[in-house]
Amino acid sequence: MQTWNAEVVQYHRLRNDLAVVRLVGDAVPFEAGQSVDVVVPQNPRLTRRYSPALPPSLDGKLEFHVRAVPAGWVSGSIVNETRPGDVWRIGNPGGVLRVDDSGRDVVMIAGGTGLAPMRSIILDLARRESPPQVTLYVGGRSPRDLYASDLLWILVSQLPWLTVVPVVDQLKDPWAPDRYNDGIRAEIAGSAPMFEAEHCWEGSLADVVSVQEPFVDKQVLVCGSPGMEAATVAALLANGTPSEAILR
Ligand SMILES: Cc1cc2nc3c(=O)[nH]c(=O)nc-3n(C[C@H](O)[C@H](O)[C@H](O)COP(=O)(O)OP(=O)(O)OC[C@H]3O[C@@H](n4cnc5c(N)ncnc54)[C@H](O)[C@@H]3O)c2cc1C
Repeated sequence: MQTWNAEVVQYHRLRNDLAVVRLVGDAVPFEAGQSVDVVVPQNPRLTRRYSPALPPSLDGKLEFHVRAVPAGWVSGSIVNETRPGDVWRIGNPGGVLRVDDSGRDVVMIAGGTGLAPMRSIILDLARRESPPQVTLYVGGRSPRDLYASDLLWILVSQLPWLTVVPVVDQLKDPWAPDRYNDGIRAEIAGSAPMFEAEHCWEGSLADVVSVQEPFVDKQVLVCGSPGMEAATVAALLANGTPSEAILR
């Protein structure tokens, strides 16, 4: 199977358990919304799937958002041990998340790093002459978990066809500090607006979509942990959203 190499050029630790990794290398032939196999030098025998957070670029730019899962082999080493100069092996692009050309409104429901493929699609849609209306429900455990809320704020202010609805399980952040988040907040202190607790709906993504009108004649994209996806799709179906409208 064909593989491509890319070198880490930037590593940003945004939270205790989350890093954004930017790479430059071979142009990988994927489509916005797809995921790829990744092999990192810290664990060269293990392959994991990750979703690029940028649409494909001919100059080989890639970005990944990786959350360290407890006791996970690969994600923990990416978040804790990635260094500029590391070379990642990328392969096997695939997946069905996409927005078609019908012009129908789009509903995106993203839990945690499920935001990555949605962001890739949004940036890809921004290249279209007339993008469809997009509503992005983005979920986390608490406001601190919404790791891209400053970037989403900028996108909403620039893209008139995009609405972002932040959703958190609880409005109060955990008492334990997160030194990476605290450091970033101290650095930007008020200079970069972002989604805060007062902008968030409280509940799970499944709770929130279940009180919406059924998403009929819309394209509904769901991405997150297996549990989040299962609960959200069950809520969508119970709410009257047709199954053929849902991609995950
Ligand atoms: C299509 C797709 C796209 C994805 N995109 C992203 C993305 O963009 N960003 C992202 O962060 N993640 C993404 N993921 C998840 C990613 O592929 C990995 O599953 C995740 O990073 C965990 O990998 P790991 O090696 O750290 O964990 P693993 O070592 O595989 O372990 C996963 C979990 O299983 C538990 N476990 C492992 N072995 C055992 C055992 N023997 N007994 C009991 N429990 C065990 C671990 O404790 C851990 O909680 C995606 C997954 C898919 C399928």
